[in-house]
Amino acid sequence: MPAKRPNNPARELLFGDLWEYDPAPETAPAHIAPRYDLFINGQFTAPKSKKWFDSISPGNEQKVSEIALANEADVNAAFAAATAAFSKWSKTSGAERGKYLYRIARLLQDRAREFAVAETIDGGKPIRESRDFDVPVAAAHFFYHAGWADKLAYAAPGRTLAPLGVVGQIIPWNFPLLMLAWKIAPALACGNTVILKPAETTSVTAMKFCSILQDAGLPPGVVNIVTGAGDTGTNIIHHPAAAKIAFTGSTAIGKFIQRTLAGTDKRLTLELGGKAANIVFEDAPIDQAVEGIVNGIFFNQGHVCCAGSRLLVQESVADEVLRKLKMRLRHLRVGDPLDKNTDIGAINSRKQLEKIQELVKSGVQEGAEIHQPACKLPKRGFYFAPTLFSNVSLSHRIAREEIFGPVLSILTFRTPEEAVEKANNTPYGLSAGVWTDKGSRILKMSTELKAGVVWANTYNKFDPASPFGGYKESGFGREGGKQGLLDYAQIV
Ligand code: ADP
Repeated sequence: MPAKRPNNPARELLFGDLWEYDPAPETAPAHIAPRYDLFINGQFTAPKSKKWFDSISPGNEQKVSEIALANEADVNAAFAAATAAFSKWSKTSGAERGKYLYRIARLLQDRAREFAVAETIDGGKPIRESRDFDVPVAAAHFFYHAGWADKLAYAAPGRTLAPLGVVGQIIPWNFPLLMLAWKIAPALACGNTVILKPAETTSVTAMKFCSILQDAGLPPGVVNIVTGAGDTGTNIIHHPAAAKIAFTGSTAIGKFIQRTLAGTDKRLTLELGGKAANIVFEDAPIDQAVEGIVNGIFFNQGHVCCAGSRLLVQESVADEVLRKLKMRLRHLRVGDPLDKNTDIGAINSRKQLEKIQELVKSGVQEGAEIHQPACKLPKRGFYFAPTLFSNVSLSHRIAREEIFGPVLSILTFRTPEEAVEKANNTPYGLSAGVWTDKGSRILKMSTELKAGVVWANTYNKFDPASPFGGYKESGFGREGGKQGLLDYAQIV
């Protein structure tokens, strides 16, 4: 047993509204066009559907831009372009493909601030995150895969790798540019051509990215971006020319795609939902763990498939952790995503806000205890206060279903075995966190937790070299690292 901790209640200085922060709005121009057409065969192309839909900013509900709605004929045109481009691109040398990827990475770096502002306006995430995380990590993925392009022979020594063909890629709204990078970079490194569909609420940075492709001189048709909602996605997955579908999104749509592709020769990788356990043992450095818990669930408003949305805390330190968490929550700043002081920005859409509200209501109705700091939410836009639930039991919906919002469900455990049992008691298996002073416990937990990624004494750390992906209903296939690369190639 570790020595008993001194009962040392942390002091808190609260000034209420007396020392309000001055607003610190980001003012760099985002250069968002009033309307975006489709990007097919290297050109911005008006949709054959002759329809556009509005993209609004969740931070203030104002219209940001009009986005083309691709119908079946548009998707067919994109596939025709990608199929034509494949014959040349697949024979382009790895060194040459790498040059394009390096160019894309550098151009993205050059315009990093502009992309960060656009991402925040269109999607609602705090500018600090889009600036310090989304855009730099997206560029890092292009750099990383640029390095692989001429070294594919080393990814499968003694074997010859070949591209798959035209790949259809469908991405979600939580990390729009970063998910685009996760998908496009390995596909191009391996010599595939691409049809990518961004999520309907967050298409802007994908369309801005097309201008980077043009500036990089990428041959026409190698990357095609078609915008739209579920129907556009369905047209992609049904298209006979798609050699592979790569999907990141909800488990429900992932299951639908898997059913649709069953019996075809298309390859499939799915990165779906999660309900990760973030496990805090009594010997953990509690203050650091509290920071990790906050980062684990409130990063990107909790719109993170690997969010640490279930906190499992050892009973002996549960009161201390809850007290410190409540205190920490009072200092999180919720509001204008463009303000550099903001910790928690806007919920991505009204639909998502309503889903969070409904699940939080169920938590209260099922008997969990809710804790929310008093915070002023902006009058316009979609916002939700950071929320903790204690007294949660495994059967509660808030402990089982993915909320995809700033809501943490806290459960307790007594023994490591109980922690593993509870952590694995979920249909998902994307990620987990372990907080402990004991290295051997970290190793043991990481083998027993059924999760694709296990972080130890940290959370939400990403690197292009580190494969990411799930078990069970969180999907299959990996993104990043050599494993992610090999999901875009075949051994011939
Ligand atoms: P969420 O429910 O969190 O919005 P979705 O799984 O619906 O997540 O969305 C992820 C991506 O899947 C988006 O790009 C969306 O447009 C797309 N999508 C939604 N429905 C379908 C479908 N039936 N077929 C293909 N793609 C779809």
